[in-house]
Amino acid sequence: MPPVVTIMGHVDHGKTTLLDAIRKANVAGGEAGGITQHIGAYQVETNGKRITFLDTPGHAAFSSMRARGARVTDIVVIVVAADDGIMPQTEEAIKHAKSANVPIIVAVNKTDLPDANPDRVLTQLTEHELVPEAYGGDVVTAPISAKTGAGLQELLESILLVSELVVDPKANPAGNAQGTVVEAKIDKGRGAVVTVLVQQGALRRGDVVVAGEHMGKIRAMTDDKGVEVKVAGPSTPVEIVGFGTVPGAGDRLEVVKDEKEARAVIARRVERGREERLDTSSRVSLEELYKRMREGEAKELNVVIKADVQGSVEAVREALEELGNEEVRVRVLHSGVGPVGESDVLLAAADKDQEEKNSLVVAFNVGTATGADKKAEQEHVQVRSYTIIYNLLDDVKRAMLDLLPPIYEEIELGRAEVRARFRLPSGVAIAGCYVTEGLVRRNAKARLLRGGSLLSTGNIDTLKRIKDDAREVQAGYECGLTIRDWNDIAEGDAIECFEMRQIQREL
Ligand code: GDP
Repeated sequence: MPPVVTIMGHVDHGKTTLLDAIRKANVAGGEAGGITQHIGAYQVETNGKRITFLDTPGHAAFSSMRARGARVTDIVVIVVAADDGIMPQTEEAIKHAKSANVPIIVAVNKTDLPDANPDRVLTQLTEHELVPEAYGGDVVTAPISAKTGAGLQELLESILLVSELVVDPKANPAGNAQGTVVEAKIDKGRGAVVTVLVQQGALRRGDVVVAGEHMGKIRAMTDDKGVEVKVAGPSTPVEIVGFGTVPGAGDRLEVVKDEKEARAVIARRVERGREERLDTSSRVSLEELYKRMREGEAKELNVVIKADVQGSVEAVREALEELGNEEVRVRVLHSGVGPVGESDVLLAAADKDQEEKNSLVVAFNVGTATGADKKAEQEHVQVRSYTIIYNLLDDVKRAMLDLLPPIYEEIELGRAEVRARFRLPSGVAIAGCYVTEGLVRRNAKARLLRGGSLLSTGNIDTLKRIKDDAREVQAGYECGLTIRDWNDIAEGDAIECFEMRQIQREL
């Protein structure tokens, strides 16, 4: 089965040029002049063997697919410009590929340039624990010029060699297909257009498929040359038309028996998704927290402390230093006895960020020296005076919490069924609903579900009971509502009403 290759590397090192060059030189099937269209992936043939390239260079695509648990890449080719050497995004690419456990081939590009220094790239690689074969290691490197085409054939051959070691040849070309969504978009004429990389089995026109919380029946299927195909086997990228809504890159695609089964699968996923969303708030904050701890990225409130006597200076300092947690802490820039002076203000100003919330001068039982007030105003530094330590601590706590990004949690309010649809002369659709659970509230958020699939999320703009405006409508009653910018409401749709509430953070 053909290996699937992703190309990564630093910006401007030649990823796009390389993808284009390979594709132009070597389109599978070889018919020159065949219509090539960008569908997010393509296949080439070399020495009678095929290679599939994901045509979405960039780390974001790779990591978002990985985040969804999709394993679509067998080999990563990292492009390094020989005149520039290893750069930050090269390092990032190396990290991604290593943590995904995918073999790396390094294409040393732009060897046509006079100041190209391929040897330096090889040396730099060893510093990143990638020892090139030339240095006795096992990392395959290939000098190329994406511009002149030099070395491209050898690069393709290296890919095939490496793939023999890593690609599972047993992928079953029979049976129901499984694959991964590589790219998806809305096309005005055709609706949702989805590029899928088939990974197992055979995908056929007419199949009913599910990807994430989306379903479709394949009406048309074309390959990377724009040719209609009826069947697509493992490692083949195809563009399919027939989804009702647009799945996301990285969603797994499966074939199911019929539309009834598809709806059942999706209903289960929506339900599970809803439960997960309900407790994401706490999970996100925990993950965030660990992340920040790992990265040493806790926010800091920079404080300059001035007080009347040394004993107070120490007391305030100790109390402030104890305030922090893993997410935010106080960093004392300076502390001393005496009134707040210009130099105290300037110290705080130097460490201030753009939002100006992270630096503060606190004065305990002391005043401000002449000129310092004016300086503070000029430099947008806050100077706060206290005579009671508890007030000082409370205030600093608030300033610390202010630095943290807000966290929201979703509060489920209720559910309603759409039983009728009307249209205002302005074209706005009104959903005539029956509230089945909880309540529906004006200005709350709503999810619109059709056949178990999520169609849209929006805001409830107007809500009426009989003819009167209502703030909320309880279960067991009928109501009419409109959702902002959402006119495609149909009888039988379900509406979930929820609110996002900001979680009060504490220290
Ligand atoms: P990307 O950001 O990694 O996709 O880089 P591009 O493919 O857009 O290339 C960036 C620039 O480098 C473009 O101006 C290319 O023409 C040029 N470039 C790419 N490959 C080569 C090469 O092999 N030799 C030379 N001289 N220039 C190249």
